[in-house]
Amino acid sequence: SGLLEVRRLRKVYGGTAALADVDIHVGRGQLHALLGENGAGKSTLVKILAAVEHEDAGEVRLDGEALPPRRTPRTMAERGVVFIHQDLGLVATMTVAENIAQYAGYPTGLSGISWPATQARAREALARLDVALDPNVPVGELSIAEQAAVAIARALVQDARLIVLDEPTASLAAGEAARLLSTLERLREKGISCILVTHRLDEVLSHCDHVTVLRNGQVVGSRPVEELSRDD
Ligand code: ADP
Ligand code: ADP
Repeated sequence: SGLLEVRRLRKVYGGTAALADVDIHVGRGQLHALLGENGAGKSTLVKILAAVEHEDAGEVRLDGEALPPRRTPRTMAERGVVFIHQDLGLVATMTVAENIAQYAGYPTGLSGISWPATQARAREALARLDVALDPNVPVGELSIAEQAAVAIARALVQDARLIVLDEPTASLAAGEAARLLSTLERLREKGISCILVTHRLDEVLSHCDHVTVLRNGQVVGSRPVEELSRDD
């Protein structure tokens, strides 16, 4: 079975079903695109996975275990589910290593180790992503794709099993977006699963393993990308 299983998830806002019985299965090491137009329910699903919102019905299972309906963001972090917002959540004036070492509000496990050891962890996480960056450079001096690599490296340091990225490429030029997506592809070989929220079909076809399409709160299709490419 997969790493994440969302079953018959339902969320209603004042009469509007933002999610109507949504099923999603994310395999281990899978780069899973969540594709949909505005209003499809993508943000609602991400918020429920982040436990900043709660479902009205249905369940979320991680690694075969049902998560409690009233889970908290901390529960999710402790289980290795890491969220990367579109703004990446980095502090521009802090260095790469400082950003990787600190993750506001969540347990990082890094507070007990020395600064040189922290820098070494940062360097090692970046190396796992095949990204060569000086850990002592302020992230504000980096390209957006490099900054995204820092956010992903931070997730690795937190022992992420599932990384959820909310429209990370929405404001990027094609070259930068491609660089960011190829960094995400490094996660596949590490067995780390990834949910990429996007409305760009081109990046789904060229980088992702599986795509689930949401429309008006419902899953209208979910299949391996290789099947899609054959059909179209
Ligand atoms: P997406 O992220 O795909 O654009 P959303 O999850 O933001 O979609 O929205 C899905 C539907 O739920 C939309 O019809 C939206 O207007 C509605 N919705 C989302 N959040 C709220 C809210 N807090 N209050 C009322 N309606 C909401
Ligand atoms: P959006 O416009 O992307 O639907 P909002 O900006 O309305 O989301 O966010 C509503 C609240 O949910 C904010 O407090 C935000 O910090 C939180 N939130 C949104 N997405 C996430 C996420 N992926 N992880 C954690 N918190 C989130």
